[in-house]
Amino acid sequence: MDMKKDGKQMHEMNRRQFLERIGLGSVTALSIMTIGATPSSASPQGGRFPAAQLLSSSEEEEGAEAGGMTYRTQNGTGEQISLLGFGMMRLPREQEKVNELVDYAIANGVNYFDTAPMYGGGTNETATGLALCRYPRDKYFVATKMSNQNEGLWSFEKSKEIYENSFRKLQVDYIDYYLLHSVGSGGMHNLRGRFLDNGLLDFLVEERKAGRIRHLGFSYHGDVKVFDWLLDHHDQYHWDFVQIQMNYLDWHHSSTRRRRADDANAEYLYGRLEKLGIQAVIMEPLRGGSLANVSDDVRDQLTRARKDDTPARWGFRWVGSHPDVLTILSGMNRMEHLQENLATFSPLEPCTKVENELLARIADKMSGLPTIGCTTCAYCMPCKYGVDIPGNFAFYNKAVAEGRLPLPDSTAPDFEEKRKAYLEAYRAAIPDKARANRCQDCGECLQKCPQQLPIPKHMSHLVEMTRRKS
Ligand code: SF4
Ligand code: SF4
Repeated sequence: MDMKKDGKQMHEMNRRQFLERIGLGSVTALSIMTIGATPSSASPQGGRFPAAQLLSSSEEEEGAEAGGMTYRTQNGTGEQISLLGFGMMRLPREQEKVNELVDYAIANGVNYFDTAPMYGGGTNETATGLALCRYPRDKYFVATKMSNQNEGLWSFEKSKEIYENSFRKLQVDYIDYYLLHSVGSGGMHNLRGRFLDNGLLDFLVEERKAGRIRHLGFSYHGDVKVFDWLLDHHDQYHWDFVQIQMNYLDWHHSSTRRRRADDANAEYLYGRLEKLGIQAVIMEPLRGGSLANVSDDVRDQLTRARKDDTPARWGFRWVGSHPDVLTILSGMNRMEHLQENLATFSPLEPCTKVENELLARIADKMSGLPTIGCTTCAYCMPCKYGVDIPGNFAFYNKAVAEGRLPLPDSTAPDFEEKRKAYLEAYRAAIPDKARANRCQDCGECLQKCPQQLPIPKHMSHLVEMTRRKS
Protein backbone atom coordinates (compact mmCIF):
# COMPACT_ATOMS: atom_id res chain seq x y z
CA MET A 1 0.00 0.00 0.00
CA ASP A 2 1.73 3.14 -1.15
CA MET A 3 0.32 6.18 0.63
CA LYS A 4 3.25 8.40 -0.27
CA LYS A 5 2.39 9.16 -3.89
CA ASP A 6 4.96 11.71 -4.99
CA GLY A 7 6.68 11.82 -1.64
CA LYS A 8 9.34 14.47 -2.23
CA GLN A 9 7.01 17.01 -3.79
CA MET A 10 4.42 16.35 -1.12
CA HIS A 11 7.00 16.77 1.57
CA GLU A 12 8.05 20.17 0.28
CA MET A 13 4.44 21.33 0.17
CA ASN A 14 3.91 20.13 3.69
CA ARG A 15 6.85 21.98 5.03
CA ARG A 16 5.81 25.20 3.30
CA GLN A 17 2.25 24.86 4.58
CA PHE A 18 3.49 24.19 8.04
CA LEU A 19 5.81 27.20 8.08
CA GLU A 20 2.99 29.41 6.87
CA ARG A 21 0.68 28.06 9.52
CA ILE A 22 2.99 29.09 12.32
CA GLY A 23 3.82 32.42 10.67
CA LEU A 24 7.40 31.58 9.66
CA GLY A 25 6.98 31.21 5.93
CA SER A 26 10.50 32.31 5.07
CA VAL A 27 12.59 30.60 7.73
CA THR A 28 14.61 27.53 6.96
CA ALA A 29 13.73 24.04 7.99
CA LEU A 30 16.84 24.05 10.14
CA SER A 31 15.61 26.89 12.28
CA ILE A 32 12.26 25.32 12.71
CA MET A 33 13.90 22.35 14.38
CA THR A 34 14.32 24.55 17.43
CA ILE A 35 10.65 25.43 17.74
CA GLY A 36 9.11 22.14 18.69
CA ALA A 37 9.75 20.00 21.72
CA THR A 38 13.08 18.48 20.86
CA PRO A 39 14.19 15.55 22.96
CA SER A 40 16.35 17.72 25.17
CA SER A 41 13.80 20.49 25.54
CA ALA A 42 11.26 17.97 26.71
CA SER A 43 13.40 16.81 29.59
CA PRO A 44 11.94 16.69 33.08
CA GLN A 45 13.44 20.14 33.68
CA GLY A 46 11.94 21.49 30.49
CA GLY A 47 8.45 20.18 31.03
CA ARG A 48 6.48 17.51 32.80
CA PHE A 49 5.96 15.47 29.67
CA PRO A 50 9.26 13.86 28.92
CA ALA A 51 11.52 13.18 27.22
CA ALA A 52 13.30 11.37 24.48
CA GLN A 53 9.90 10.45 23.12
CA LEU A 54 8.46 13.72 21.86
CA LEU A 55 8.50 14.77 18.24
CA SER A 56 9.43 18.19 17.02
CA SER A 57 6.94 19.76 14.64
CA SER A 58 9.38 19.51 11.76
CA GLU A 59 9.99 15.83 12.40
CA GLU A 60 6.29 15.20 12.15
CA GLU A 61 6.27 16.74 8.71
CA GLU A 62 8.28 13.78 7.44
CA GLY A 63 5.26 11.55 7.85
CA ALA A 64 2.53 13.83 6.58
CA GLU A 65 0.85 14.15 3.24
CA ALA A 66 0.31 17.66 1.91
CA GLY A 67 -2.84 18.84 3.61
CA GLY A 68 -3.68 15.18 4.12
CA MET A 69 -3.53 12.49 6.75
CA THR A 70 -0.39 11.95 8.80
CA TYR A 71 1.01 8.43 8.50
CA ARG A 72 3.36 6.41 10.65
CA THR A 73 5.63 3.70 9.32
CA GLN A 74 5.18 0.23 10.79
CA ASN A 75 8.63 -0.83 11.98
CA GLY A 76 8.72 -4.34 10.55
CA THR A 77 6.94 -4.11 7.21
CA GLY A 78 7.32 -0.43 6.41
CA GLU A 79 3.61 -0.14 5.75
CA GLN A 80 2.09 3.31 6.19
CA ILE A 81 -0.56 3.46 8.89
CA SER A 82 -2.87 6.45 9.30
CA LEU A 83 -2.20 8.13 12.63
CA LEU A 84 -5.95 8.41 13.08
CA GLY A 85 -7.29 4.89 13.56
CA PHE A 86 -10.99 4.18 13.32
CA GLY A 87 -12.25 2.61 16.57
CA MET A 88 -15.32 0.63 15.46
CA MET A 89 -16.59 -0.10 18.97
CA ARG A 90 -19.77 1.95 18.74
CA LEU A 91 -21.26 1.99 15.28
CA PRO A 92 -24.61 3.18 13.98
CA ARG A 93 -27.15 0.35 13.73
CA GLU A 94 -27.84 0.86 10.05
CA GLN A 95 -25.22 -0.70 7.79
CA GLU A 96 -25.66 2.14 5.30
CA LYS A 97 -24.50 4.64 7.89
CA VAL A 98 -21.53 2.46 8.81
CA ASN A 99 -20.60 2.27 5.13
CA GLU A 100 -20.94 6.03 4.78
CA LEU A 101 -18.54 6.63 7.68
CA VAL A 102 -16.06 4.07 6.40
CA ASP A 103 -16.22 5.49 2.87
CA TYR A 104 -15.57 9.00 4.12
CA ALA A 105 -12.73 7.85 6.37
CA ILE A 106 -11.01 5.89 3.58
CA ALA A 107 -11.49 8.72 1.09
CA ASN A 108 -9.70 10.98 3.55
CA GLY A 109 -6.78 8.70 4.25
CA VAL A 110 -7.81 6.57 7.24
CA ASN A 111 -6.67 2.98 6.71
CA TYR A 112 -6.63 1.37 10.19
CA PHE A 113 -9.92 -0.10 11.51
CA ASP A 114 -10.14 -1.64 14.97
CA THR A 115 -12.91 -4.00 16.03
CA ALA A 116 -13.46 -6.96 18.38
CA PRO A 117 -15.81 -9.96 18.57
CA MET A 118 -17.48 -8.57 21.71
CA TYR A 119 -18.22 -5.08 20.37
CA GLY A 120 -21.78 -4.18 19.50
CA GLY A 121 -23.08 -7.25 21.31
CA GLY A 122 -21.23 -9.45 18.81
CA THR A 123 -22.38 -7.66 15.63
CA ASN A 124 -19.50 -5.27 15.19
CA GLU A 125 -17.09 -7.49 13.25
CA THR A 126 -19.84 -8.32 10.78
CA ALA A 127 -20.68 -4.65 10.21
CA THR A 128 -16.99 -3.82 9.86
CA GLY A 129 -16.49 -6.68 7.40
CA LEU A 130 -19.48 -5.62 5.31
CA ALA A 131 -18.15 -2.08 5.08
CA LEU A 132 -14.55 -3.00 4.34
CA CYS A 133 -15.09 -5.88 1.93
CA ARG A 134 -16.25 -3.35 -0.68
CA TYR A 135 -12.61 -2.25 -0.96
CA PRO A 136 -9.56 -4.05 -2.36
CA ARG A 137 -7.88 -5.96 0.47
CA ASP A 138 -4.69 -3.91 0.25
CA LYS A 139 -6.53 -0.62 0.87
CA TYR A 140 -7.14 -1.13 4.59
CA PHE A 141 -5.68 -2.69 7.71
CA VAL A 142 -8.07 -4.43 10.04
CA ALA A 143 -7.42 -5.13 13.71
CA THR A 144 -9.44 -7.53 15.81
CA LYS A 145 -9.00 -9.39 19.07
CA MET A 146 -9.24 -12.61 21.03
CA SER A 147 -12.16 -11.63 23.27
CA ASN A 148 -12.21 -14.77 25.42
CA GLN A 149 -12.39 -12.85 28.72
CA ASN A 150 -15.34 -14.88 29.96
CA GLU A 151 -14.03 -17.97 31.79
CA GLY A 152 -16.44 -20.21 29.89
CA LEU A 153 -14.46 -19.42 26.73
CA TRP A 154 -10.98 -20.30 27.98
CA SER A 155 -10.73 -23.73 26.38
CA PHE A 156 -8.58 -23.95 23.25
CA GLU A 157 -11.54 -25.11 21.14
CA LYS A 158 -13.86 -22.27 22.18
CA SER A 159 -11.17 -19.65 21.74
CA LYS A 160 -10.21 -21.05 18.34
CA GLU A 161 -13.85 -20.78 17.33
CA ILE A 162 -13.79 -17.06 18.24
CA TYR A 163 -10.64 -16.68 16.14
CA GLU A 164 -12.11 -18.46 13.13
CA ASN A 165 -15.37 -16.52 13.37
CA SER A 166 -13.41 -13.29 13.06
CA PHE A 167 -12.18 -14.31 9.60
CA ARG A 168 -15.67 -15.24 8.52
CA LYS A 169 -17.33 -12.10 9.85
CA LEU A 170 -14.64 -9.78 8.55
CA GLN A 171 -14.60 -11.61 5.20
CA VAL A 172 -10.82 -11.82 5.11
CA ASP A 173 -8.24 -14.57 4.76
CA TYR A 174 -5.66 -12.76 6.86
CA ILE A 175 -5.91 -10.33 9.78
CA ASP A 176 -3.51 -7.41 9.78
CA TYR A 177 -3.36 -6.71 13.52
CA TYR A 178 -4.47 -9.36 15.99
CA LEU A 179 -4.58 -8.70 19.74
CA LEU A 180 -4.94 -10.67 22.92
CA HIS A 181 -7.85 -8.60 24.18
CA SER A 182 -7.61 -6.67 27.44
CA VAL A 183 -4.89 -8.67 29.19
CA GLY A 184 -4.22 -7.50 32.74
CA SER A 185 -7.81 -7.81 33.95
CA GLY A 186 -7.78 -10.71 36.38
CA GLY A 187 -3.98 -10.65 36.66
CA MET A 188 -1.66 -13.55 35.84
CA HIS A 189 -4.36 -16.06 36.73
CA ASN A 190 -6.47 -14.91 33.78
CA LEU A 191 -3.51 -14.63 31.42
CA ARG A 192 -2.56 -18.23 32.15
CA GLY A 193 -6.15 -19.45 31.82
CA ARG A 194 -6.92 -17.54 28.64
CA PHE A 195 -3.66 -17.85 26.70
CA LEU A 196 -0.86 -19.87 28.25
CA ASP A 197 -2.13 -23.10 29.82
CA ASN A 198 -4.45 -23.86 26.89
CA GLY A 199 -1.71 -23.36 24.27
CA LEU A 200 -3.63 -20.54 22.59
CA LEU A 201 -0.77 -18.06 22.50
CA ASP A 202 1.54 -20.65 20.93
CA PHE A 203 -1.16 -21.31 18.35
CA LEU A 204 -1.47 -17.59 17.53
CA VAL A 205 2.30 -17.33 17.13
CA GLU A 206 2.09 -20.22 14.64
CA GLU A 207 -0.75 -18.46 12.84
CA ARG A 208 1.49 -15.43 12.43
CA LYS A 209 4.20 -17.66 10.95
CA ALA A 210 1.62 -19.03 8.52
CA GLY A 211 0.69 -15.48 7.48
CA ARG A 212 -2.93 -15.54 8.66
CA ILE A 213 -1.98 -12.99 11.32
CA ARG A 214 0.33 -10.29 10.00
CA HIS A 215 1.05 -8.54 13.31
CA LEU A 216 0.51 -9.97 16.77
CA GLY A 217 0.08 -7.83 19.88
CA PHE A 218 -2.04 -7.36 22.97
CA SER A 219 -4.24 -4.68 24.50
CA TYR A 220 -3.57 -4.01 28.14
CA HIS A 221 -5.65 -2.78 31.09
CA GLY A 222 -5.20 -3.49 34.76
CA ASP A 223 -2.52 -5.42 36.58
CA VAL A 224 0.88 -4.26 35.42
CA LYS A 225 2.46 -7.60 36.35
CA VAL A 226 0.80 -9.04 33.25
CA PHE A 227 2.10 -6.24 31.04
CA ASP A 228 5.59 -6.74 32.43
CA TRP A 229 5.47 -10.52 32.07
CA LEU A 230 4.47 -10.29 28.41
CA LEU A 231 7.20 -7.79 27.66
CA ASP A 232 9.76 -9.80 29.65
CA HIS A 233 8.96 -12.60 27.20
CA HIS A 234 9.34 -10.41 24.11
CA ASP A 235 12.25 -12.59 22.91
CA GLN A 236 9.88 -15.52 22.84
CA TYR A 237 6.75 -13.90 21.39
CA HIS A 238 8.15 -10.96 19.38
CA TRP A 239 5.29 -8.56 19.91
CA ASP A 240 4.71 -6.46 16.80
CA PHE A 241 2.71 -3.81 18.65
CA VAL A 242 0.95 -3.22 21.96
CA GLN A 243 -2.26 -1.30 22.59
CA ILE A 244 -2.27 0.88 25.71
CA GLN A 245 -4.40 3.60 27.25
CA MET A 246 -2.53 6.89 26.96
CA ASN A 247 -3.55 10.53 27.25
CA TYR A 248 -2.15 13.61 28.93
CA LEU A 249 -4.02 12.86 32.17
CA ASP A 250 -3.07 9.17 32.42
CA TRP A 251 0.57 9.97 31.67
CA HIS A 252 1.22 10.72 35.33
CA HIS A 253 -2.21 10.25 36.85
CA SER A 254 -3.59 6.90 35.76
CA SER A 255 -6.97 6.44 37.42
CA THR A 256 -6.12 2.89 38.50
CA ARG A 257 -2.69 3.95 39.71
CA ARG A 258 -4.35 6.18 42.28
CA ARG A 259 -6.06 3.17 43.82
CA ARG A 260 -3.67 0.29 43.31
CA ALA A 261 0.03 0.26 43.99
CA ASP A 262 0.61 -2.38 41.29
CA ASP A 263 -0.83 -0.38 38.39
CA ALA A 264 1.20 1.90 36.20
CA ASN A 265 0.91 5.29 34.61
CA ALA A 266 0.99 5.64 30.83
CA GLU A 267 4.49 7.08 31.07
CA TYR A 268 5.72 3.73 32.39
CA LEU A 269 3.84 1.68 29.79
CA TYR A 270 4.96 3.77 26.84
CA GLY A 271 8.50 3.99 28.22
CA ARG A 272 8.83 0.20 28.41
CA LEU A 273 7.56 -0.21 24.86
CA GLU A 274 9.85 2.51 23.60
CA LYS A 275 12.91 0.81 25.11
CA LEU A 276 12.01 -2.45 23.39
CA GLY A 277 11.27 -0.72 20.08
CA ILE A 278 7.64 -1.85 20.10
CA GLN A 279 5.18 0.58 18.57
CA ALA A 280 2.08 1.55 20.53
CA VAL A 281 -1.50 1.66 19.37
CA ILE A 282 -3.33 4.12 21.60
CA MET A 283 -6.80 3.72 23.05
CA GLU A 284 -8.64 6.27 25.17
CA PRO A 285 -6.66 9.26 23.86
CA LEU A 286 -9.37 11.49 25.37
CA ARG A 287 -10.00 9.28 28.38
CA GLY A 288 -13.51 8.30 27.46
CA GLY A 289 -14.34 11.83 26.31
CA SER A 290 -13.47 13.51 29.60
CA LEU A 291 -10.62 15.42 27.94
CA ALA A 292 -13.05 16.69 25.32
CA ASN A 293 -15.62 17.81 27.91
CA VAL A 294 -13.41 19.83 30.17
CA SER A 295 -14.40 22.51 32.66
CA ASP A 296 -14.88 26.10 31.54
CA ASP A 297 -11.69 27.04 33.32
CA VAL A 298 -9.61 24.47 31.41
CA ARG A 299 -11.33 25.36 28.16
CA ASP A 300 -10.44 29.03 28.70
CA GLN A 301 -6.80 28.18 29.32
CA LEU A 302 -6.64 26.10 26.15
CA THR A 303 -8.42 28.72 24.07
CA ARG A 304 -6.05 31.42 25.26
CA ALA A 305 -3.14 29.30 24.08
CA ARG A 306 -4.66 28.34 20.70
CA LYS A 307 -7.92 30.03 19.98
CA ASP A 308 -9.21 27.71 17.27
CA ASP A 309 -8.40 24.37 18.85
CA THR A 310 -10.98 22.28 20.66
CA PRO A 311 -9.99 20.42 23.85
CA ALA A 312 -10.26 17.18 21.86
CA ARG A 313 -7.73 18.43 19.34
CA TRP A 314 -5.32 19.27 22.17
CA GLY A 315 -5.68 15.73 23.49
CA PHE A 316 -5.00 14.12 20.11
CA ARG A 317 -2.07 16.41 19.35
CA TRP A 318 -0.46 15.52 22.66
CA VAL A 319 -0.70 11.79 22.00
CA GLY A 320 0.45 12.17 18.41
CA SER A 321 3.57 14.00 19.57
CA HIS A 322 5.02 10.64 20.62
CA PRO A 323 6.88 9.08 17.69
CA ASP A 324 6.47 5.45 18.77
CA VAL A 325 2.72 5.81 18.53
CA LEU A 326 1.65 3.88 15.44
CA THR A 327 -1.98 4.92 15.42
CA ILE A 328 -4.50 6.61 17.74
CA LEU A 329 -7.91 5.02 17.99
CA SER A 330 -10.96 7.21 18.11
CA GLY A 331 -14.50 5.90 18.19
CA MET A 332 -16.38 7.90 15.56
CA ASN A 333 -20.03 7.06 15.16
CA ARG A 334 -21.10 10.46 13.82
CA MET A 335 -19.93 12.16 10.65
CA GLU A 336 -19.14 15.43 12.45
CA HIS A 337 -16.77 13.61 14.84
CA LEU A 338 -15.02 11.97 11.94
CA GLN A 339 -14.69 15.27 10.10
CA GLU A 340 -13.36 17.07 13.16
CA ASN A 341 -10.82 14.34 13.77
CA LEU A 342 -9.73 14.32 10.14
CA ALA A 343 -9.06 18.04 10.39
CA THR A 344 -6.87 17.41 13.46
CA PHE A 345 -4.85 14.63 11.83
CA SER A 346 -4.49 16.12 8.34
CA PRO A 347 -1.74 16.69 9.14
CA LEU A 348 -1.30 16.37 12.88
CA GLU A 349 0.69 19.20 14.39
CA PRO A 350 2.70 18.02 17.42
CA CYS A 351 2.58 19.99 20.66
CA THR A 352 5.35 22.43 21.43
CA LYS A 353 7.27 22.40 24.69
CA VAL A 354 5.18 25.29 26.05
CA GLU A 355 1.97 23.47 25.14
CA ASN A 356 3.18 20.29 26.83
CA GLU A 357 3.85 22.26 29.98
CA LEU A 358 0.37 23.76 29.90
CA LEU A 359 -1.21 20.31 29.54
CA ALA A 360 0.93 18.98 32.40
CA ARG A 361 -0.34 21.75 34.69
CA ILE A 362 -3.91 21.08 33.62
CA ALA A 363 -3.46 17.34 34.24
CA ASP A 364 -2.11 17.99 37.72
CA LYS A 365 -5.13 20.10 38.50
CA MET A 366 -7.59 17.62 37.01
CA SER A 367 -6.06 14.74 38.94
CA GLY A 368 -7.11 16.45 42.17
CA LEU A 369 -10.77 16.38 41.13
CA PRO A 370 -13.00 13.61 42.49
CA THR A 371 -13.88 12.19 39.08
CA ILE A 372 -14.57 8.50 38.47
CA GLY A 373 -12.07 6.96 36.05
CA CYS A 374 -14.74 5.59 33.73
CA THR A 375 -13.93 5.66 30.03
CA THR A 376 -17.54 4.82 29.05
CA CYS A 377 -16.34 1.69 27.24
CA ALA A 378 -19.51 -0.17 28.35
CA TYR A 379 -17.68 -3.48 28.87
CA CYS A 380 -19.61 -3.71 32.17
CA MET A 381 -22.97 -3.63 30.42
CA PRO A 382 -25.65 -4.82 30.52
CA CYS A 383 -26.38 -4.62 34.23
CA LYS A 384 -29.10 -7.13 35.02
CA TYR A 385 -30.83 -4.56 37.23
CA GLY A 386 -30.92 -2.01 34.44
CA VAL A 387 -28.38 0.50 35.74
CA ASP A 388 -26.82 2.56 32.95
CA ILE A 389 -23.34 2.38 34.46
CA PRO A 390 -21.39 4.49 31.93
CA GLY A 391 -24.27 6.95 31.64
CA ASN A 392 -24.35 7.56 35.40
CA PHE A 393 -20.60 7.98 35.63
CA ALA A 394 -20.43 10.27 32.60
CA PHE A 395 -23.14 12.47 34.11
CA TYR A 396 -21.31 12.64 37.43
CA ASN A 397 -17.92 13.38 35.82
CA LYS A 398 -19.40 16.20 33.77
CA ALA A 399 -20.88 17.70 36.94
CA VAL A 400 -17.46 17.48 38.62
CA ALA A 401 -15.75 19.16 35.67
CA GLU A 402 -18.33 21.93 35.65
CA GLY A 403 -18.25 22.46 39.43
CA ARG A 404 -21.90 21.47 39.89
CA LEU A 405 -21.52 18.82 42.59
CA PRO A 406 -23.55 19.50 45.74
CA LEU A 407 -20.96 17.71 47.90
CA PRO A 408 -18.47 17.59 49.55
CA ASP A 409 -19.61 20.41 51.84
CA SER A 410 -23.20 19.68 52.88
CA THR A 411 -23.10 22.55 55.36
CA ALA A 412 -22.37 25.13 52.68
CA PRO A 413 -25.11 27.78 52.38
CA ASP A 414 -25.79 26.90 48.75
CA PHE A 415 -25.83 23.14 49.30
CA GLU A 416 -29.58 22.71 49.03
CA GLU A 417 -29.78 24.87 45.92
CA LYS A 418 -26.97 22.89 44.26
CA ARG A 419 -28.48 19.58 45.31
CA LYS A 420 -31.81 20.45 43.71
CA ALA A 421 -30.20 21.63 40.49
CA TYR A 422 -28.03 18.51 40.34
CA LEU A 423 -31.02 16.25 40.97
CA GLU A 424 -33.13 17.96 38.34
CA ALA A 425 -30.40 17.63 35.72
CA TYR A 426 -29.78 14.00 36.75
CA ARG A 427 -33.45 13.09 36.38
CA ALA A 428 -33.55 14.70 32.96
CA ALA A 429 -30.43 12.85 31.81
CA ILE A 430 -30.88 9.34 33.25
CA PRO A 431 -34.21 7.46 33.03
CA ASP A 432 -35.68 6.28 36.30
CA LYS A 433 -34.93 2.59 35.74
CA ALA A 434 -31.30 3.24 34.83
CA ARG A 435 -30.36 5.36 37.85
CA ALA A 436 -27.71 4.60 40.44
CA ASN A 437 -30.25 3.74 43.14
CA ARG A 438 -31.22 0.65 41.12
CA CYS A 439 -27.84 -0.93 41.85
CA GLN A 440 -28.24 -4.07 43.98
CA ASP A 441 -24.53 -4.44 44.70
CA CYS A 442 -24.52 -7.83 42.96
CA GLY A 443 -20.90 -7.30 41.92
CA GLU A 444 -21.30 -8.86 38.45
CA CYS A 445 -19.91 -5.80 36.72
CA LEU A 446 -16.70 -5.72 38.76
CA GLN A 447 -14.78 -8.36 36.81
CA LYS A 448 -15.79 -6.84 33.49
CA CYS A 449 -14.42 -3.35 34.08
CA PRO A 450 -10.96 -2.91 32.51
CA GLN A 451 -10.41 0.13 34.74
CA GLN A 452 -11.15 -2.03 37.78
CA LEU A 453 -13.56 0.50 39.18
CA PRO A 454 -15.46 -0.33 42.38
CA ILE A 455 -18.72 0.24 40.50
CA PRO A 456 -21.29 -0.49 43.26
CA LYS A 457 -19.36 1.70 45.68
CA HIS A 458 -19.43 4.55 43.19
CA MET A 459 -23.15 3.99 42.67
CA SER A 460 -23.74 4.46 46.41
CA HIS A 461 -21.75 7.66 46.22
CA LEU A 462 -23.92 8.90 43.36
CA VAL A 463 -27.05 8.18 45.39
CA GLU A 464 -25.53 10.11 48.26
CA MET A 465 -25.16 13.12 45.96
CA THR A 466 -28.87 13.46 45.68
CA ARG A 467 -29.82 12.97 49.35
CA ARG A 468 -31.19 15.81 51.37
CA LYS A 469 -29.11 16.57 54.46
CA SER A 470 -30.92 16.75 57.79
S1 SF4 B 1 -23.16 -4.17 41.09
FE1 SF4 B 1 -24.82 -2.75 40.65
S2 SF4 B 1 -24.26 -1.78 38.73
FE2 SF4 B 1 -22.99 -3.62 38.92
S3 SF4 B 1 -24.12 -5.18 37.78
FE3 SF4 B 1 -24.72 -5.34 39.95
S4 SF4 B 1 -26.53 -4.06 40.14
FE4 SF4 B 1 -25.55 -3.52 38.18
S1 SF4 C 1 -17.47 1.31 34.58
FE1 SF4 C 1 -15.65 0.35 33.70
S2 SF4 C 1 -16.44 -1.11 32.20
FE2 SF4 C 1 -18.13 0.24 32.73
S3 SF4 C 1 -18.07 1.81 31.16
FE3 SF4 C 1 -16.86 2.58 32.86
S4 SF4 C 1 -14.73 1.97 32.43
FE4 SF4 C 1 -16.06 0.77 31.07
